[in-house]
Amino acid sequence: MKDKATGSCLCGAVKFEIGLPTKWCSHCHCSLCRRAHGAGFVTWVGVYAERFSITAGESELRRYRSSSEAIRSFCGSCGSTLLFESQKWPGEVHVALANIDTPIDRDPEGQAHPEDRVSWIPDWEITPKHQIH
Ligand SMILES: [Zn+2]
Ligand SMILES: [Zn+2]
Repeated sequence: MKDKATGSCLCGAVKFEIGLPTKWCSHCHCSLCRRAHGAGFVTWVGVYAERFSITAGESELRRYRSSSEAIRSFCGSCGSTLLFESQKWPGEVHVALANIDTPIDRDPEGQAHPEDRVSWIPDWEITPKHQIH
């Protein structure tokens, strides 16, 4: 296994690097993730904050406070939604798996907020079934 993974936004201005291993990987069905990403659900990778770094385009990164404790970061040029950080999970950066370009050390392990899953995302697309968070 490689010891790092890299990722980027759609336009390539923002690039980031993750030191492996990661902490966890999970789908999230909450309405805030759906809306922020324009997607049926979002697959997040939990990364140790000290192993996460922005390697290019830091100045392009825009930060949006989506709740009193959470900040979502996206590329100001192309709009790619990339990162989630919350006081609920100190020391962690949550990174959108879809924006990671290289393999990571795990597959999705669970689901957050499965009760909020939209009816047009069939259950069979989402494994495993156990709930986390
Ligand atoms: Zn971009
Ligand atoms: Zn969510």
